[in-house]
Amino acid sequence: MLWPEVGRLAERSCTGFGLNGEMSFTVTPLADVADVVAAARRAFDSGVTKPATWRVSTLKRLRKLVKQHEDALLQALASDFGKPRFEAWVTEIGFVLADIDHTLAHLANWMAPEKVATPVAFKPGTSTVIHEPVGVVAVIAPWNYPVQLLLLPMIAAIAAGNAVVGKPSELAPAASDALAALVADLGDPAVSLVLGGVAETTELLAQRFDHILYTGNGRVARIVMRAAAENLTPVTLELGGKSPAIVSRNANIDVAARRIAWGKFVNAGQTCIAPDYVLVERQVHDQFVTALGKQITAFYGTDPSASPDLTRIVNDPHFHRLEKLLHSGTIAVGGESNADTRYIAPTVLTGITRDDAVMGEEIFGPILPVLAVDSLEEAVRFVNADDKPLALYSFSESDDDNEMVLSGATSGGACVNGTLLHISNPNLPFGGVGESGMGAYHGQFGFETFSHRRGVHVRSTKIDPAMMYPPYTKRKETLVRKAMTLPDPRDVWTKLRGKLRRD
Ligand code: NAD
Repeated sequence: MLWPEVGRLAERSCTGFGLNGEMSFTVTPLADVADVVAAARRAFDSGVTKPATWRVSTLKRLRKLVKQHEDALLQALASDFGKPRFEAWVTEIGFVLADIDHTLAHLANWMAPEKVATPVAFKPGTSTVIHEPVGVVAVIAPWNYPVQLLLLPMIAAIAAGNAVVGKPSELAPAASDALAALVADLGDPAVSLVLGGVAETTELLAQRFDHILYTGNGRVARIVMRAAAENLTPVTLELGGKSPAIVSRNANIDVAARRIAWGKFVNAGQTCIAPDYVLVERQVHDQFVTALGKQITAFYGTDPSASPDLTRIVNDPHFHRLEKLLHSGTIAVGGESNADTRYIAPTVLTGITRDDAVMGEEIFGPILPVLAVDSLEEAVRFVNADDKPLALYSFSESDDDNEMVLSGATSGGACVNGTLLHISNPNLPFGGVGESGMGAYHGQFGFETFSHRRGVHVRSTKIDPAMMYPPYTKRKETLVRKAMTLPDPRDVWTKLRGKLRRD
C-alpha cells in the first residue's frame, strides 16, 4: 500500500456508541482522528492537491474505484436497510458516476481565471477572479443515501483542489465499511475518512478545517456550526424538513399521483426531499387519493411487503417513531407494519390537520398525509406558516397556478409537475434555505462552495497619476470626484440592454 497510515486507520474495527445507544460499527480510534486531519493538512500544504493534474487524476481514479467497488457498495446498501439494487444504483452509484463525469467535463472552465471589467478610474490595469482551494474540507454525511451524500461533496472538494476528510454515518454501518475500503484503495492522504459516531465526529469537529459540509438534521447542524465558529470555519448545512406537494384542481391527477407516489416511496420515504405531505384542492381530493392507491398497487403489488422494490426502515428507533405516526387521521391506503423486518407499508393518511402528530415533524418514512384545501392561496398560507422547506412541488397544467405557488412560498429547490428530479440536474444548485439549510453544492455550485474567490487587480506602472496621493489639494479632490463618478461604458451598455429587454 502506498500510504500505510490510510490503510491502518480504515482497518480498525470495534463497537461504538451511536445516537441509539450501543451498536456495532467500525470506528477510527479517537487518538488517530487528529492524525488523519494532520495528514490531510500536510498533503494540502505540500501543494500536491492544487494542480489540475492531481484533481483530474484523483477524480478519474475515484471513478474507477466506484465501479470496482460497485457490488460491495450495493450489497452494503441492501444489508443496511434493504435498498433494492436498481434504486441503489440509480440514486447512489449512477449519481456519483454522472457527477464525476460532469465535473471532469467542466473542470477546466470552472478553474479558468475569470477576467472582469476594470472601472475607468482604475485603468490602466486588469482585474481577474481566481478560484483557489480553501484548504482542508470536512464532509459529514448521513445514512439515508450514504454513498452519494458522502462522495458528491468530496468530489466537489477535490475538484476545487482541496484535501478532504469524510465521515460516513454510523447508522449505515455496512456502507460505511464499504466506503472506507474504497477510499483506502485510493491511497492518498489528501482524501481520507474518519469512521464512527458521535464521539468520533465530536473529535473530528475539534480539529481545524477550512470548510465543513454537514448533511443531516438541524439539531446536529447547530453543534457543527458552534464547533466551526471556534475557528471561523465556513459551513454548508444540508438539512431537511417538511417538503410539501401542492396539487391544483387543474393538475393531471394521474400523473401527479404517480410522480408523488414515486418521490415519496423511493427509499421508503427516507429522502430529504421526499414530498412530506400533500395539499390538494378539495374538488380533486378523492380522485387524487384513489389515484395514489392505484399507483401504490402498480408499483409494489397488492402486498407491498412481498415486493423486492421497497426499502426497509433503517433501524428500530426510526421504525417505532414511524409506527406511532400511523395513528394520525384515517388510513386510506396501507397502514400495515412489521417490527421484525422493520417494514412499513406505503401508507396514505387522510382527514389530517396541522395538529396531528404526523404534521409535527419531518416524517422521513413511507407515510403520506393528504390534506384538502379550499384554494391554492390557502395551500401557500399553510406552507408559509411552517419553516422554509428543502423542496416544494407544484402540480398543475396551468402556468398561472404554478407561478402563484412558486412565488408565494420559498424553498431550497422546487420542481413543477415532478418530484426529486430537480436535484439530478448538476446545473442546478442543491441546498436549503432557513431551517432547511444554508449554502449549496452539485456541479459548479460545489466547486464554488469549496473555492475561495480571490479578486486580483494588476496595475500598470507605466503611468502613476498623483491625484490619489497626499498632499491632498482642492484640485486633486475635484479630479478624484470626477474620475470616480464617471459612468463606466460597460455599465451604461448593460443598463441599456436591460431596458431594451424589459421594453
Ligand atoms: P445521521 O444520524 O446519519 O447523522 C448525520 C451525521 O451526523 C452522521 O455522520 C452522524 O455521525 C453525525 N452526528 C450525529 N450526532 C452527532 C453529534 N451529536 N455530534 C456530531 N455529529 C453527530 O443522519 P440524520 O441526521 O438522521 O439524517 C436525517 C436528516 O438529514 C433528515 O432531516 C433529512 O432530511 C436530512 N437530510 C438532508 C439531506 C440534504 O441533502 N439536504 C440529505 C439527506 C438527509
